[in-house]
Amino acid sequence: MRKRIFQLTVFLAGAFLFVSSSLSDDIHHSQPAWGFFAHKRINRLAVLTLPPEMMVFFKPNIDWLTDHAVDPDMRRYATKHEAPRHYIDLDEYGTPPFEDLPRLWADAMMKYTDVWVVQLPGDTVQLFGNQKPVPENLTRSYKNYFFQNLLPRFYKDEEMLDADSLNAFLQASGIPLRAKTAFFREHLSKHGIVPWHLQKMQRDLTEAFRQRNSKRLLRLAADMGHYIGDAHVPLHTTSNYNGQKTGQHGIHGFWESRVPELFADEEYDFFVGKPEYIANPTDFFWQAVFDSHSMVDSVLTMERALTKSFPSDRQMCPDMRNGLSVLAPCRDYAAAYQTALQGMMERRMRAAIHAVSSAWYTAWVDAGQPDLSKMDVSPATEEELKAEEELKKIFGQGKILGRPEEH
Ligand SMILES: [Zn+2]
Repeated sequence: MRKRIFQLTVFLAGAFLFVSSSLSDDIHHSQPAWGFFAHKRINRLAVLTLPPEMMVFFKPNIDWLTDHAVDPDMRRYATKHEAPRHYIDLDEYGTPPFEDLPRLWADAMMKYTDVWVVQLPGDTVQLFGNQKPVPENLTRSYKNYFFQNLLPRFYKDEEMLDADSLNAFLQASGIPLRAKTAFFREHLSKHGIVPWHLQKMQRDLTEAFRQRNSKRLLRLAADMGHYIGDAHVPLHTTSNYNGQKTGQHGIHGFWESRVPELFADEEYDFFVGKPEYIANPTDFFWQAVFDSHSMVDSVLTMERALTKSFPSDRQMCPDMRNGLSVLAPCRDYAAAYQTALQGMMERRMRAAIHAVSSAWYTAWVDAGQPDLSKMDVSPATEEELKAEEELKKIFGQGKILGRPEEH
């Protein structure tokens, strides 16, 4: 077992060097979420809080879980479906408590997906979807139709619908439309889906524990740590995610990368206690983003006030990044921002660590507390190595698909 893990670690260390060297260009136009630094700390520290029955598997793999805490950000260069998993623009859905926003993904998809019926050329009618709610008496049958025919198509990037099955639904529902062809447009992804995606991850992780599938388990646990981390960042819950709407460009990286990088290791108290069982993961993940969202105002207001009150020639300082000189918020300036926010970055990072370990722990409990002591991680296969290389190559080229920056 020891040898296998060693092989895995060597491979990963090599891979990571590659990433670091190709990052330099990228760092100017895209600060990864929480910074790579904080994501890695969150996963690592979450491992250290686990009970002995889980530690026996997680501890030997702690370096893997740490290094791969940032994979989801790298995947944003490989598929357009990745970016929305890192955020949710809650302000697009009104104001707290967001009662009309469906808490379950399939319900939200149904509400924000338009289905269009093409009857004759030029005669296209919207059936249901955004701005056109499903009547109460048809909710059940439409849900059936939607779950069976539409949801499976979503990830295939296919927007055409099968006319026959739609017509069967229309006929059974007494709707006087007949489709020659039909298609759909989905409006949920563009504002981000992090709280919904976390629900799916929790189910997948539980299943991986149940199957005692060590590779899948590690992969999902690492990803889960990343998305939970993102959900704890206030600027991941607003459409003004980089201060671009309020003239505060760069605030995203300032809050989630610069401040933790300067102060986390020296000053933050990361003793967060044991993980807790999450009775209702759906509510738990939503609460995390709602809490984050409630802090957006302070994040923006305090920075705006500080740019006015702090000596302007001491706000930005030269800093070295991967051998390049860049301008970054000065240490004193960053400290002043942190103080103005009463240590918000530390509180959110602590909450994220505790949430990550609690989500892992909950999945393990829900899977029936499987014995993890004899689980081994086999070395990466040819195919897996190739896929990793491919991901790094695309990442190195630095073209994000979907939202361009700061998520
Ligand atoms: Zn992210």
